[in-house]
Amino acid sequence: MNYQEKIEKTVEFIKNSTYAVALTGAGVSTESGIPDFRSPRGLWQRFKMITFDEFIINRQARQEFWEMKKELLPELLNAKPNEAHYALAKLEKMGLLKYVITQNIDGLHQLAGSKQVIEIHGNNREALCIDCGRFYKIEEIIEFLKEDIADVRCSNCGGVIKPKIIFFGESMPEREFNLAQTASSQCDLMLVVGTSLQVYPAAGLPQLAYHSGAKLIFINQTETPMDELAEVVIHEKAGKALGDILKEFKRGC
Ligand SMILES: [Zn+2]
Repeated sequence: MNYQEKIEKTVEFIKNSTYAVALTGAGVSTESGIPDFRSPRGLWQRFKMITFDEFIINRQARQEFWEMKKELLPELLNAKPNEAHYALAKLEKMGLLKYVITQNIDGLHQLAGSKQVIEIHGNNREALCIDCGRFYKIEEIIEFLKEDIADVRCSNCGGVIKPKIIFFGESMPEREFNLAQTASSQCDLMLVVGTSLQVYPAAGLPQLAYHSGAKLIFINQTETPMDELAEVVIHEKAGKALGDILKEFKRGC
């Protein structure tokens, strides 16, 4: 199949499905300027990643983490959704997509208009005190950081504030992950977009969908270890491919 045939085939699969979901990863947001953690120039090369335990126990590690955030958060808050986010939001609006399950923590799906978003790795726009549970918007945290507070603490109880992202060594948010598993086992079509499927348990979701009888469509710039499970594999940027899929829908209407 050539590229255009793959796009047409994908549209056909979406039209014929009754319960389609999307699983998205970093590749959906790179076109919005959000760096991919795993790319050669990604964040893991620039900053040492810390584990959940280190964050809770080690004041020094926490300070380094907030130093990194101080540099990255303004970048994140300026990021805008791209064609990939808008296309998925549009498919939901057209009643063709039930959920977006995302590994991304940038909140761009919601900004693009997606309503049913399951964030399995949490999100970067909110934070919580781990002691009293007080909720903080990221803008408040940025204000703390601007005041050069090295160890960001809860203004209510002095506890450690943790962004609502999932750290290494931290378990998945239970409610979100259960929802993602249910959607994956009940869907009849899963669009897997912008993820190289190397991080579990997220990478297990397409397998769960496949073994529950769903068809898989992969859109990713590079190969994934699961390409052979998919009906259609499109090696292309997420924005371009999803944009073309949407155009094909309009052409057919
Ligand atoms: Zn507190």
